[in-house]
Amino acid sequence: MGFATPTCPIAKRCGGCEWLAVPYPIQLRRKREAVVGLFSDLLDSGASEAAPGDVAIVGMEAPRGYRHKAATPFSPGKGGMIRSGFYERGTHRIVPCAACLAEDPRCRPILNDMARVAERLKIRAYDEDKGRGMLRHAVVRTGWRTEEGLLTVVTNGNTLAHGRELAEAVAEAAPLRLSVVQNINQRRTNAILGPTSKPLLGPGVMHDSLLGVTFEIGPTSFYQTNPEQTEALYRLAIDGARLEPGQTLLDAYCGIGTIGLCAAKAVDGVSVVGVERVEGAVADARRNARANGLGGRARFVCADATAYLADSKHNRTGFDVVVLDPPRAGATEAFLSACDASGCGRIVYVSCNPVTQRRDLDFLVGRGWLLESLTVVDMFPHTKHAETVAALRRR
Ligand code: SAH
Repeated sequence: MGFATPTCPIAKRCGGCEWLAVPYPIQLRRKREAVVGLFSDLLDSGASEAAPGDVAIVGMEAPRGYRHKAATPFSPGKGGMIRSGFYERGTHRIVPCAACLAEDPRCRPILNDMARVAERLKIRAYDEDKGRGMLRHAVVRTGWRTEEGLLTVVTNGNTLAHGRELAEAVAEAAPLRLSVVQNINQRRTNAILGPTSKPLLGPGVMHDSLLGVTFEIGPTSFYQTNPEQTEALYRLAIDGARLEPGQTLLDAYCGIGTIGLCAAKAVDGVSVVGVERVEGAVADARRNARANGLGGRARFVCADATAYLADSKHNRTGFDVVVLDPPRAGATEAFLSACDASGCGRIVYVSCNPVTQRRDLDFLVGRGWLLESLTVVDMFPHTKHAETVAALRRR
């Protein structure tokens, strides 16, 4: 493998790509070894069919330009200038950035261009110390399988003077079909997005597809940022599920329904129930199911995953396979207990935090489950993060 180690002029100050100086093949080896180390006694035990040497890592062929979502804070500079870029590590000082090698190269120029257009239109950047000014942040997302993009302009107020002109000028110069949304955040908080959004240009949503399923993505939808590796991750999850026609899959912590809908698309005759606690995401999932002709086989419930599965009303014996993809905190014992008590024969655990996954797998193994395989997926090259997919079956 001949990877040239890339360099970035602001790597030290930005801190986003902590491992940038480490050659990519060594990054992959380190991530794999860290996961194997964390799981070693389990992999060496009778509770695992996979030995440490069976744990593979799926890396990227070209580990750059992988992030299809980029954001910038804005702050006022001298004479109406608007600063954009990244926060310097541990501070709220903005370091300008002309190009970020982790991002889709179309992203950063759109954000910087927006600052220039706003200066021309005399729109003021938000001053977080004084709580004054209009433009707080911008977030742009670009399609991987589509030529669509969505720019979210976060403002400290409802009325953005020249908002339409701003949107049109930025979209005009963008190298893809860009829809622009205004999001209003009037709270004094570090959270980027506020509660309400309205379209400034175009439909206010964009589309992308994964494994042949098209997803509509709005300004607040959760959607993985590295689509190429997301496909690898989902494929592993679907393969690990070994679904057969007629079976029912529970997609727990399902977000906008991506894993479940990809599974329904991949295996004819499989039914999916997704459970997710964010109402907007559930609405997206339902719409995505219908738009892909999967509405008859996929249904989504807005609930806490544990409460849903532990509540016997929900016919919890009806699931053949459970896929779960919880946040960094992992699942709860009550959720895992309910999984175990349900009739399901297989569990596929997708994780963005191997530490909590290890804890949760210990619990399942204690209840007699067998670890069949463990695979690492590199979703965030040049960082220390690792995602993992574990497939288990009932003994
Ligand atoms: N599988 C999806 C989403 C994974 S992110 C994807 O790949 O896109 C984890 C999701 O779990 C988030 O959407 C979050 O809102 C949801 N979540 C977190 N805690 C939850 C809980 N207790 N019950 C149900 N959903 C939860």
